[in-house]
Amino acid sequence: MNKIQMTTPIVEMDGDEMTRIIWKAIKDELICPYVDLKTEYYDLGLENRNNTDDKVTFDSANATKKYGVAVKCATITPNAARVEEYKLKEMWKSPNGTIRAILDGTVFRAPILVKGIEPFVKNWKKPITIARHAYGDVYKNVEIKVPGAGKAELVFTGEDGKEIRETIHDFKGSGIIQGIHNTDKSITSFAKSCFNYALDTKQDLWFSTKDTISKKYDHNFKDIFADLYEKEYKARFEEAGIEYFYTLIDDAVARVIRSEGGYIWACKNYDGDVMSDMVATAFGDLAMMTSVLVSPDGNYEYEAAHGTVQRHYYKHLNGEETSTNSIATIYAWTGALRKRGELDGNAELMTFADKLDKACINTIEDGEMTGSLAKLTTIPNPKVLNTFDFIKAIRNHLDELL
Ligand code: NAP
Ligand code: MG
Repeated sequence: MNKIQMTTPIVEMDGDEMTRIIWKAIKDELICPYVDLKTEYYDLGLENRNNTDDKVTFDSANATKKYGVAVKCATITPNAARVEEYKLKEMWKSPNGTIRAILDGTVFRAPILVKGIEPFVKNWKKPITIARHAYGDVYKNVEIKVPGAGKAELVFTGEDGKEIRETIHDFKGSGIIQGIHNTDKSITSFAKSCFNYALDTKQDLWFSTKDTISKKYDHNFKDIFADLYEKEYKARFEEAGIEYFYTLIDDAVARVIRSEGGYIWACKNYDGDVMSDMVATAFGDLAMMTSVLVSPDGNYEYEAAHGTVQRHYYKHLNGEETSTNSIATIYAWTGALRKRGELDGNAELMTFADKLDKACINTIEDGEMTGSLAKLTTIPNPKVLNTFDFIKAIRNHLDELL
């Protein structure tokens, strides 16, 4: 059989623990037998990040800016225990944080729907994609525990020395205060990523904040989205037959639950953090969630939404059988291959990605799945497969489709 040829490489970011094991199995079983895979390989495994003083992470992000498409394996974000475990020179920063800061993007997360893994919300028929702003607000806050009576003020000093001053509260006793910020630049790139992704995937875009209460802060988000929509996107949305609509976050929550899905829900940083876990769980399983970072200038980095599945890795190292679900990692690969195919005008590569997705779905719908899905499924007597047999079962379904 002739392998599918590629013209431009994909940036490949390898990772850690159990996901590193399935990464190799996916390439060996599901991609390389069919595609003459071209990648520029970066080893983001913690050992190599440590050996390169984390330079490899920066290099991989810059390569993504060069080529436009990357696929990333889950990686360890070191904490004190990991510094000890891997004898690290430093507690290296989160690779996702580093990559996000360089690409300046928005993270889009969408569930993979299969028959037999039914959403807990019974009217949800199509995926709901959460677009989470990945900069600022409470994630870059400054906090003070107020010890006792006194006055708290919000002060901005311009470069020209002029002050803007507001009283936050006249404390009669102890309490707490918090300072948060965002920038028009970051909010604008968040908005652009959302509008572009809606056009790309031909889905409506919803955006929600609490602008009735936060009349300047949240209102600024609403205004930036509205201005950009009017100036740059309205005509293209109308042409694509899709809609942009703004509503209050509490109204959005009520509408989301009553909806049948099939749209993008853009959320501020904290709202997106909370709502994406709610939506992922309500659709079934975190291991059935895709994730893509889209930068405002059109670079794409695909990954799984879950972590490195550490517990399974230690079982694997002990020679014990594991049942790790590889679907989200396979979808990261197919997302990258499809986007590469689209950018290069390589229809064969795009069709291959579609068929590999379909093979994953057919496998589960035929009742062959890993342990965590078997616990959720409505399919009677599912066949529980181990990590590697599940990938082999997907290969059998793929061969049927090719
Ligand atoms: P995790 O890797 O997401 O796993 C948590 C638990 O969820 C697992 O123990 C497993 O449950 C279940 N699970 C997650 N993915 C699964 C899959 N594909 N198949 C089957 N079960 C799955 O989170 P963690 O254990 O808290 O974190 C491990 C490491 O991942 C940490 O070092 C963290 O820094 C890193 N992390 C990386 C990313 C990323 O790179 N994007 C994201 C999050 C976390 P059972 O054990 O009950 O089977
Ligand atoms: Mg979270």
